[in-house]
Amino acid sequence: MKRKIGDHIQMVEDMGLSVSFTTGNEAYLFCPFHPERRESMCVNLVRPVWHCFSCERGGSLKQLERMLDSMEEVEQVVIDDELDDESQANINAIANVTLDDFTGMDISDRIVYLQRRGFSRETIRKWGVRRTSLFAVIPVYWDNKLEGLILRSMIRNVKPKYQYQPKGVFHKNDNILVNPNFRVAGGMIVIVEGALDAMKVWQNGYENVCAILGSSISENQVKKIMRIAGSAMLLFDNDAAGYNAMRNVGVALSGMQLYVPRSSLYYSGDPAEMSSEELSEVMENRMSFLKARVSGVV
Ligand SMILES: [Zn+2]
Repeated sequence: MKRKIGDHIQMVEDMGLSVSFTTGNEAYLFCPFHPERRESMCVNLVRPVWHCFSCERGGSLKQLERMLDSMEEVEQVVIDDELDDESQANINAIANVTLDDFTGMDISDRIVYLQRRGFSRETIRKWGVRRTSLFAVIPVYWDNKLEGLILRSMIRNVKPKYQYQPKGVFHKNDNILVNPNFRVAGGMIVIVEGALDAMKVWQNGYENVCAILGSSISENQVKKIMRIAGSAMLLFDNDAAGYNAMRNVGVALSGMQLYVPRSSLYYSGDPAEMSSEELSEVMENRMSFLKARVSGVV
């Protein structure tokens, strides 16, 4: 069967990669296996093969898909074993990112790990996410000032999953992550636990969102939220711990109008995994926190 030109573009885009440009019989992309400033990966539009001129990886498109699929698994094998001192030191070194380091990092909206979890390039760009070899790095701004960085491990089983930088300067309990260009001024905000939850809720159409960077809330965080929002929807992970957190956070925020999901049946897992349909369903079926307390929902 003869393939149309363009199929190969579709194939690599289905793998979470994005073609930057085509020339002749070739499409050029940023190589997913390392950060780079210029596209050095090229996909042949006639034959299903690819090659990277920078790292010299290459092969068939089938192999590329397998490599992307096993990227996490391959690294997991290493991490699953007890980390030896050297690996742990390496991870700690990579996790040590200053604000200056961050400013100097390459900007790219192609972060395969996030794209494969359903984040669009626009979301990655708007939230200003950058990356190191092991972590997606999400900046936290408050009053237009860069306060700190959230490092989300892109490799399963690297613990902790989240790290906060600069160490000793940025404390997750003092800060919240708000959406880019947030303009809430008294409106409703969606409050979630994690940074990726916030990014996904934003991507799914609920612009005003903040993450409290964990499942508990501090006085400082309460103050910040009260300053930017008049009411809030609490949307935590759909498990016992999430509901427990929702109750505690609800009590701490009792000075404002609060909503929670009407029932845990309306959604599955955590907001980072939700489709936009699922999210609208939960948002439309919200109930007041007080009612939910009385009726035993939380
Ligand atoms: Zn490469």
